[in-house]
Amino acid sequence: MPNIRVHKNNPQVEEAFVLDKQPAGEDSLYVRLLGKNRGKFVSIAGKARKSIKRFINGLEPFELVKIQYKKIKNSSNLFFLEQSKPIRFFERLTCFPKACFMGFLANELILKSLMDEEGANNVFGLYYDMLLALNAEPLKTKPMFMFMHELFKVIGIAPSLMECVKCGYIVSKEPFTLLSIEDGGAVCVKCRLNEESRYSLKLNQPISSILDDEIQLEKLVQFYVDFWQYRFNRPLHAWKGWISIKNEFGALL
Ligand SMILES: [Zn+2]
Repeated sequence: MPNIRVHKNNPQVEEAFVLDKQPAGEDSLYVRLLGKNRGKFVSIAGKARKSIKRFINGLEPFELVKIQYKKIKNSSNLFFLEQSKPIRFFERLTCFPKACFMGFLANELILKSLMDEEGANNVFGLYYDMLLALNAEPLKTKPMFMFMHELFKVIGIAPSLMECVKCGYIVSKEPFTLLSIEDGGAVCVKCRLNEESRYSLKLNQPISSILDDEIQLEKLVQFYVDFWQYRFNRPLHAWKGWISIKNEFGALL
């Protein structure tokens, strides 16, 4: 375990989701968490790869745990995780590829997006609701889309879907919708330019009616992934993984 000194005061206790984990030294782990109060933070779980007692279930992604942690001396952004107890595990996320990839996409979006403390607290509730929905049967794309849209609002980049980004005209009932990554959302018929390439997504039905259409919603999720990548100039790997698996094994999934 890396050499660290922990504050002597009482540990803090809260509920948190495990977002991911990586080895730290020979037997410890870096665990990135989304805490109900603290929001997103990094912790080090000392000897976690050996101590099943202190870290029941081994801190797997998507697990909701009750954690006990302390501040580390001379570090403001790394915490020492003393123990974790499982509260809830969303088992379908480990059994169904689509649910799993969507969960990892959500984790990747949270981990790679900057948000202030208040924003991160809101994301905890959104994330919880989304995992509950992904864990239910039948699996739908809607909760993932809703999560992305709300997360994008929190980080201040939500694309405009219902109103034209240029003139404010309500487009939600137009027979089809053109969305542009560069412009930041929907563009109405009057404001459209003649460059086809400017419009990254064409939905062949009114935007107000697509929330129950799986195929259109998947396209919209793809648009959100592209939109995020365009804004931050960083790749999102989880969705790409899902698309390539779907192309290869589509009929079997
Ligand atoms: Zn317009």
